[in-house]
Amino acid sequence: MRKKHYTVRRKAVGKKRENGKSVDEIVRDLRDKAGVHSEYREQSLQIHGLICAKCAREFDYKDRHLLTVHHKDGNHKNNPPDGSNWENLCVYCHDDEHSRGLLGDYFSQEE
Ligand SMILES: [Zn+2]
Ligand SMILES: [Zn+2]
Repeated sequence: MRKKHYTVRRKAVGKKRENGKSVDEIVRDLRDKAGVHSEYREQSLQIHGLICAKCAREFDYKDRHLLTVHHKDGNHKNNPPDGSNWENLCVYCHDDEHSRGLLGDYFSQEE
């Protein structure tokens, strides 16, 4: 199977949220911790589509970097090709999902 190569220009969004963090800042935070190019990320986006599993927000192709892959069982080594352990979450929902002190653990395992 050939891999698809996408080139996405990452534009500054510049929108501010109530907490004062811009979308870009949040994305950058997550990306710094998570590592940008995960094999399973592309797969999960293709399987589950460009939609947040939690808030059902839909994303355009150009905004797809705002979607992140959550591992349902918390095990990042568990990446079944059928996508059954993945959930696409927007950065806000993902942040929320791990806000109980789990976020550090989550991202420290990632590479
Ligand atoms: Zn969401
Ligand atoms: Zn997660």
